[in-house]
Amino acid sequence: MKNPFFSSLADFAQGRDERRFTIEEVTRYFLSCTEALNPSMNVCLSINSNAVNRARQLDARLARNGAESPFYGYPVMLKDNLEMEGVPTTCASKILSGYVSRRTSTAVSRLLSRGVVVLGKTNLDEFAMGSSTENSAFGPTRNPWNPARVPGGSSGGSAAAVAAGLAPLSLGSDTGGSIRQPAAFCGVLGVKPTYGRISRAGLVAFSSSLDQIGPFAGTASDALEALVAMSGKDPLDMTTADRDPSEMHADFRVTEVDGLRVGIPEELFGEGLDPSIRDRLRELRDSLSGSGSREVPITLPHSRYGINVYYLLATSEASSNLSRFDGVRYGFRAKNPADLRAMYEETRDQGFGDEVKRRILLGTFALSAGYQEAFYRKARKVQSLIRRDFLQAFEGCDLILTPTSPTPPFAFGEKTGDPLSMYLSDVYTITANLAGLPALSVPVGVDFQGLPVGAHLIGPPWSEGRLLKVADRIAEFYPMPLPEVHAGHLPGHRDGGLR
Ligand code: GLN
Repeated sequence: MKNPFFSSLADFAQGRDERRFTIEEVTRYFLSCTEALNPSMNVCLSINSNAVNRARQLDARLARNGAESPFYGYPVMLKDNLEMEGVPTTCASKILSGYVSRRTSTAVSRLLSRGVVVLGKTNLDEFAMGSSTENSAFGPTRNPWNPARVPGGSSGGSAAAVAAGLAPLSLGSDTGGSIRQPAAFCGVLGVKPTYGRISRAGLVAFSSSLDQIGPFAGTASDALEALVAMSGKDPLDMTTADRDPSEMHADFRVTEVDGLRVGIPEELFGEGLDPSIRDRLRELRDSLSGSGSREVPITLPHSRYGINVYYLLATSEASSNLSRFDGVRYGFRAKNPADLRAMYEETRDQGFGDEVKRRILLGTFALSAGYQEAFYRKARKVQSLIRRDFLQAFEGCDLILTPTSPTPPFAFGEKTGDPLSMYLSDVYTITANLAGLPALSVPVGVDFQGLPVGAHLIGPPWSEGRLLKVADRIAEFYPMPLPEVHAGHLPGHRDGGLR
């Protein structure tokens, strides 16, 4: 997270309280870096025009009252499917053009109440459907490690923002891997919490039973603080659990790698895994064992149905969730339709991109009378078997280690012609959503092409604190170099800011 001001959230809070910098200075620095890099990288879809103003107000209040939270003044970027009142939300879709949010998502308002400064909204695959950010109606984001490669998806903009030093923290959403896979592709830490940990209110729904909001951060303790700040029961989302967020602090403190039982599903380290990723994971396994952890062979026999189950359930829910975009309530409406039916049809035809249409068609089919029993209900049954496999495995291990992605970041266009090969990007991540489990991706160095590799940790329900502590130790083994495109390489970048 190299920047001229601070190296972590805790360091930021100290620097702010010692008046080493002002919040306005920090805000202006990150905005100017974004201004410099966004034309080529396409990380942000919009910049928050009120950011500097808010920073000034926070500075003024700081002078009077001091700061109650480490987040007071901290810069953050939001995936553009998270609502913030008065700010456009596009979901990278033409169908939401012109839509300005009338509410703020609970996760974001919990951060705002602690004083964060929202810098802008980041690019994504349209409605979070994709693994490369190529499905954005506003063009793809580039990978800071190699701008000819994709940043992963669907939260590609949020991952690239942290990787390129445009924000120390960003939020994404993860339905089948959309935080973890781009985190791996961009060499940053990304966390998908336990289902129900963080409210989904104000997150534009893709597949409501799988979606979770989570952070991208430079360090495990920053991600931990962000999770704690956003978590907890919310009357606006009845699937949120009534759990004390501070349990994550406690788990983070007590977890030791020494003595940890690491479950290894050997079947997931075999065929289809890129050899350079297998090598990095091999090294990691040796380092963990060297630190006193013990490998436990486990098996997740139903995981091989994960992709099939996911694409039935997620498309079914999406077909229903996306019915609200009808040209009446939100954003875009087709011009001069002949009648009401034509207005719906033309709005949706012109407003949605190809992948979104493909999903709506698949989901409508899977839910249609006559096929529901054969597809949707069967998928729900296999989903419970997938979850049962995990819970059984966790009787003998504390967490499970897999690769995050089967391949390194791929080139633009490499998979867009073949949806199935794109869908396979999420083989390792999808099952954690289906089972509702917390999981994260942590960088484990770069491959021979200089592209980042991620390790994927999955834990039992509510074990985020433990996972993050292990990620924190792993990060010590792998100091990451700066990517090719980074704010720190900008001309005029000096200690103390851009000149
Ligand atoms: N890549 C998966 C998909 O296309 C997962 C997306 C997500 O997690 N939002 O659906």
